[in-house]
Amino acid sequence: MTPAASRWTEYQTPTAIEEALALLALYGGRARIIAGGTDLILDMESSHTPPVDVLVDVTRIAGMSDITQTSEWIVIGAGVTHAQIEKSELLRRHAACLTESCGVVGGPQVRNVATIGGNVAHALPAADGTIGLLALDAEVEVCTLTDSRVVRRWQPLLSIFAGPGRNTLGHHQMLGGFRFHPTGPGEASAFDRIMRPQGVALPILGLAVWLRLDDERRKIDAARIAIGPAGPIPFRASAAEAVLTGAPQCDADVMESAIAAAQSQVQLRSSKHRASKEYRHAMVAVLLGRLLPAALERAKKS
Ligand SMILES: Cc1cc2nc3c(=O)[nH]c(=O)nc-3n(C[C@H](O)[C@H](O)[C@H](O)COP(=O)(O)OP(=O)(O)OC[C@H]3O[C@@H](n4cnc5c(N)ncnc54)[C@H](O)[C@@H]3O)c2cc1C
Repeated sequence: MTPAASRWTEYQTPTAIEEALALLALYGGRARIIAGGTDLILDMESSHTPPVDVLVDVTRIAGMSDITQTSEWIVIGAGVTHAQIEKSELLRRHAACLTESCGVVGGPQVRNVATIGGNVAHALPAADGTIGLLALDAEVEVCTLTDSRVVRRWQPLLSIFAGPGRNTLGHHQMLGGFRFHPTGPGEASAFDRIMRPQGVALPILGLAVWLRLDDERRKIDAARIAIGPAGPIPFRASAAEAVLTGAPQCDADVMESAIAAAQSQVQLRSSKHRASKEYRHAMVAVLLGRLLPAALERAKKS
C-alpha cells in the first residue's frame, strides 16, 4: 500500500510521550496516532476514518513496549504487541485470560505488529484483548497535554469507551498503558471465544472469567465476567458476577443461575457477517459453562 493511497504525507516517529502529544496538538485534526496500523490503515482505506496528513507512530516511545511488574501491579505499555503478551511467562502465570485472548487475535503476522493499545483505542465491544483486560479489572493510563506538560492519569478501563468504534480521547490525549493486579493464590482467569471457521478480525462472541476462592477454597469470594459483543461497549456481566459471589464452587444450580443472569443482561444483536442474536444468546451459556469450571480448576491449583 502506498502512502498516497491513504493520503498521509508525513510519518512521525516520536520517542517520548511529550513529543507525540506536542505533534498531535500541533497538527490538530490533521494528525492521527498509529501503532501497528492493522485497524487504522484498513479504516482509512475503506473511508471509515477521514484521511489525515500526518501519522504519529507511538511504538518507538520509550517504555511503550515494556511489560513490567511492581510490588502491586503488572503494567503493560500501550505499544506492547499481542505476540509479546502471548509469549510473556509473567502474563501466562498471572493474567491467563489476557494471554489467551491476545493469543487468538488474527494470525501471527497480525499479532507481531498489532498492539494492545490499538485494540482498546479502536473501541470495538468485541475486541479480544480488551475483553481479557476487562476481566482483570484493568486500569488504563490516559496521557494528556496540558499547558505544555504531560499529565498521566490511571482510570478504569471502561471510562474511555463512548460507543462502538468511539473512544473518549481528545486530540491532545493518548493511551500510555494498562495496569492490573496479578492473579495470586486462590485466583485464576480464563478466556475463550466462538469464531466463524474462516472468520477474520472479530469473534461471534468472546468471554473472559476471573475468580477468587475463599481461604478454604470452598466458596467463590469474588468473580468478574467480561463479554463482547454484548452491548455498545465492552460489557461486564455484573448480575452473573453477583450470583457467583459467595456461592459454593461447583454447584450446578449456581452455574445455571449465573448463565441465566448473564443471558438476561447482555444486549445482543444479529450481524449478517457473524451470527444471529439467538445464536449469540445460546453461546453465552456455552462459553460461561466452559470457562467457569476451567477457571475454578485453575484457582484451586494456584
Ligand atoms: C486480518 C486481521 C485480523 C484481525 N483479527 C482480530 C481478532 O481476532 N481479534 C481482535 O480483537 N482484533 C482483530 N483485528 C483487529 C486489530 O488487529 C486489533 O484491534 C489490533 O490490536 C489493533 O492494534 P494496532 O496496533 O494495529 O492499532 P492501529 O490500527 O495502529 O490503531 C487503531 C486505533 O487506535 C488508535 N491508537 C493506537 N494506539 C493508540 C494509543 N497508544 N493511544 C491512543 N490511540 C491509539 C489509532 O489512532 C486508531 O484509531 C484483526 C485485524 C486484521 C487486519
